[in-house]
Amino acid sequence: MSTSLYAQAKEILLGMGVDEGIIDDAVEKQEFEKRPEYVSLFTHNGLFTVKSLRTGDHRTFRVKTQPADSNFAPGKRVLSYLYGPNNTQDYRGFAFIEDGRILPWRSASAVCKQYVTMLENLDEHERCNRIEVHVSTRCRICNRTLTTPESVKSGIGPICEGRL
Ligand SMILES: [Zn+2]
Repeated sequence: MSTSLYAQAKEILLGMGVDEGIIDDAVEKQEFEKRPEYVSLFTHNGLFTVKSLRTGDHRTFRVKTQPADSNFAPGKRVLSYLYGPNNTQDYRGFAFIEDGRILPWRSASAVCKQYVTMLENLDEHERCNRIEVHVSTRCRICNRTLTTPESVKSGIGPICEGRL
């Protein structure tokens, strides 16, 4: 499935015994693909770009797991939106994703609450051709880039999978 140069290079480096984390840290890449049906906010971390087919506007959302030693919400999966030009940094959180639900923070703006409603109904909006979704997936436990077909499908990388 993943036939990008990055994936091929990573495959080779992994084969040489290079640590997966080092490879991912060295190559900060965000490769988008049209959302496969098994990828959702509820099972996958990463970037989700939602494009309105009516207006052509788009909005990028990120789902990321807080590090275990984080001061804020350790281990929780935070939903943010991209508000600035830097798509590796400019994210503002507005909800947690937990047990198949999106839970908006009390501080979330009215617009963010509309995002929640829209994202909860992503499948239906897509089915009705109102939107198009592109994704760049990450491991739901450690946020590293997913590359093997199995991990892209499950949302968990091989290292974390082995620890479960
Ligand atoms: Zn992982």
